[in-house]
Amino acid sequence: MTNLEHVLNLLPDYAFYFIDVSSPNFHGCIDYDSKAIYLNENDNDYVQLMTALHEYGHADDKPSDYSSKRHYNTLLAEKQANITAKRLLADLFPTKKATYYQ
Ligand SMILES: [Zn+2]
Repeated sequence: MTNLEHVLNLLPDYAFYFIDVSSPNFHGCIDYDSKAIYLNENDNDYVQLMTALHEYGHADDKPSDYSSKRHYNTLLAEKQANITAKRLLADLFPTKKATYYQ
């Protein structure tokens, strides 16, 4: 089982989709309504892993509209998801370093 597959198994209620997005700023997102998590297939394995862990943080959070990037609740949710991603990375893959979210 790959590291990414290990994370996908933590979210049995969600389906993961790999999508082709050319923007280097898009790594992934979650759709609470359709229980879908999208990852950018153009990212390398490490970025996809960190994005999956980050989206896990969102899946674990209460569903809300985070489309406004400057909204206070969005900023809080992003911070929470980054913290969750770092914590899960340390718990699940202790040999990997969290260099992605500083
Ligand atoms: Zn996020």
